[in-house]
Amino acid sequence: MSVITETRSTCCYCGVGCGVLISASGNQITGVRGDPDHPANFGRLCSKGSQLHLTSTPLIQAHRRLHTPMLRQHRNETLQHADWNTVTALMASRIVSTVRQYGPDSIGFYVSGQLLTEDYYLFNKLARGLIGTNQIDSNSRLCMSSAVAGYKQSLGSDAPPCNYEDLDCADLVLIIGANPAYAHPVLYRRLEAARHKRPQMKVVVVDPRRTDSAQDADLHLAIKPGTDVALLNGLLHICLWEGWIRQDWIDAHTTGFTELRNSVRSYTPEYTASVCGVKPEDLHQLAEWFYKAPASLSLYCQGLNQSSSGTAKNSALINLHLITAQIGRPGTGPFSLTGQPNAMGGRETGSMSTLLCGHRDIQNPADRAEVAAAWGIDTLPDQAGSTAVDMFEAVRNGRIRILWIVCTNPAQSLPAQAQVRAALEAAELVIVQEAFADTATCRYADILLPAASWGEKEGTVTNSERRISRVRAAISPPGMAKPDWWIASQIGQAIQQHFPLKKNLKLSYEGPQQIWNEHRELTRGQDLDITGLSYAMLEQHPQQWPCPTGQTSGKPRLYTDFRFQHADGKARLIETPYQSAQDKVTPRTPFILSTGRIRDQWHGMSRTGANNAAFSHQPQPFLEMHPADMQSRLLQDGDMVHISNQRGQQYWRIIGNPALRPGLLWLPMHWGEEYVWGYEDGQTAYGVNTLVSPALDPQSRQPELKYTTVSLRKQ
Ligand code: SF4
Repeated sequence: MSVITETRSTCCYCGVGCGVLISASGNQITGVRGDPDHPANFGRLCSKGSQLHLTSTPLIQAHRRLHTPMLRQHRNETLQHADWNTVTALMASRIVSTVRQYGPDSIGFYVSGQLLTEDYYLFNKLARGLIGTNQIDSNSRLCMSSAVAGYKQSLGSDAPPCNYEDLDCADLVLIIGANPAYAHPVLYRRLEAARHKRPQMKVVVVDPRRTDSAQDADLHLAIKPGTDVALLNGLLHICLWEGWIRQDWIDAHTTGFTELRNSVRSYTPEYTASVCGVKPEDLHQLAEWFYKAPASLSLYCQGLNQSSSGTAKNSALINLHLITAQIGRPGTGPFSLTGQPNAMGGRETGSMSTLLCGHRDIQNPADRAEVAAAWGIDTLPDQAGSTAVDMFEAVRNGRIRILWIVCTNPAQSLPAQAQVRAALEAAELVIVQEAFADTATCRYADILLPAASWGEKEGTVTNSERRISRVRAAISPPGMAKPDWWIASQIGQAIQQHFPLKKNLKLSYEGPQQIWNEHRELTRGQDLDITGLSYAMLEQHPQQWPCPTGQTSGKPRLYTDFRFQHADGKARLIETPYQSAQDKVTPRTPFILSTGRIRDQWHGMSRTGANNAAFSHQPQPFLEMHPADMQSRLLQDGDMVHISNQRGQQYWRIIGNPALRPGLLWLPMHWGEEYVWGYEDGQTAYGVNTLVSPALDPQSRQPELKYTTVSLRKQ
């Protein structure tokens, strides 16, 4: 009888970052339970986390896993099994010859918030240090880049100031553009427990849908989709009008007050209410509670971020915290909830085309010189590379010729799918590094690299509250599958043979700990300084950053001295004029289509889709519509409807839901092409994101995944 071992690790789904204990027998994961000692969850797990073993064991997943590298010489051939030496030599030769012919920016890397920090760090070094391209961006661009831009412009640093304990001691919690009951369930359970203990705590939800989070709230403002900036400006207006501001604090710790005050003059309660479709008295109530509560906390996620005005939405919310001085104290602050398990790690290692390691600035010569010196090379590329949606456009028009996709599925997750698929077909070489062989993107691969999955690899992740936890291997990867850092290291070393000037660039590592040590040294003196945070310390306890050398624990809460990260120590009050979403409601496209998460599925279902139990909550895809809209179109539950816009067309089974605003349609984000009916007039329905708008926020370049207009007819 084989022995059962238990390994301490971290859940691979959302940014709550729950600690788990993985049971394994032989090379099979047999169970998962919550880690009672992990400060993110104290033993709790949600339905996704508690079923991780059902989606992770090689026995169950064997038929779906990539066991060997695979390649094909021509697109019309089928992929053949290969060994690592063959694919490494081939990739090095193709990448080197393409760089020589077309320059380093002809190589693009599209990486993922599912990667571990060590993986992220090494891909960043490979792209920027070795190849010399900033064409590296992460799918976190679709998730958190507006939060990054908002924090940086308002507070001077990409640093969520709060921690999970703030949920226990807040007096008012404003949930805006988030549904934590489904998307961050363990955190939501903590909020429920806190309300139970302190019934005076108020919760307000701003969301066009009456979600499960909204259902439990003291006040729900069902705003018109996309009008969050107007609503937040309206709240500022009311606070200013009523004198619900902390003028001394504003004068001491912020700049830009006069300009901000002037900019929200026209956002009267009546005007704001008419733009947002809410009651003026509800606005007034929220403003009063927010100001008068001893501690006001806001929780937000993709409803603010995935927007063509995502950065403005973030800064408008931070403005509200600043003028009411609801920041820097227990239970206060603007708290962005990260979607993916390690969106934060990507930001910390600078693995987005507009960032650089250790929260440095790609445009800053001194920052680039520091990183180049640490890496033993002369220079780093100085122009920001393409961001996610732009990157696929650059592939489509031939500026990027080789695309290396790591641990993400853009053929399902990016908006405007027809263009994304055209880009993948136009690329000269598509390399996909994946655990699973059957994702939509794998079909476009010329080279498939088998990656180790959760439970099979070692490293670290950072959750929403800046807490870094260890991820540990409980079993070995199947076949020839390897950890992502190992693949970057091996292929990087093969490429390096052709670039003698880069011979000092270290790409060979004994393991993730060595990479971690190099990464933390590059944070020295930065806002996220983790030079004091060794693997040995993380073995004892997950820690929040910063944690500089000599500290025995990380910093739970930022800005407690009200000194912000701008050079003068003051936060910026940012003018945020309201702009409507880019798709317009017209007589031809009268419905707004929004997308979101259901409770038991994760992203494109490449993992949860293999677990039958995950379908017991919602077994089939569906499109939600308000019953009044259904009645006016003579629709009944279960009818098939055709929805379309200039980007494509699809068929969905409709169900009525009075929790929606009339005029709004809502679609779960998870289902891919295999579940979507829409083959008509030569157009293919590539899953949920076929119709979704690729409009971008001008600063964060995050796409507007939450607001698309469509026409609808009964099929
Ligand atoms: Fe995993 Fe998030 Fe659920 Fe925690 S809340 S168990 S991190 S999916």
